[in-house]
Amino acid sequence: MSKGRPSSHIKAQKEVKEREGYMCLRCGGVFKDSHGHHLLYYSEGGPANYQTMATMCPGCHRKYHSKKANIDIIRF
Ligand SMILES: [Zn+2]
Ligand SMILES: [Zn+2]
Repeated sequence: MSKGRPSSHIKAQKEVKEREGYMCLRCGGVFKDSHGHHLLYYSEGGPANYQTMATMCPGCHRKYHSKKANIDIIRF
C-alpha cells in the first residue's frame, strides 16, 4: 500500500526503547540512537508492538543481522 513504516510502528519502536531504558539487550550499553529489533520479523507478519521487539545498540544490531553476533535472542 504505502512504502515506509506506519506510524504505529514508529510508536512501538519508541515505546520499546523507553521501556528498556534504551539499553542494548546484548551489551547492556545505553544509546540514545539504539534500534528496535524485531524478535518476530515484521516482514513475516509479526506485529509491531513492544512485546515482539527488543532494544539493541546500532553496533550489536548490525552484527546480529550480519550473523556475527552469537546470541540467542529468543530465550533472553
Ligand atoms: Zn550493544
Ligand atoms: Zn533487528
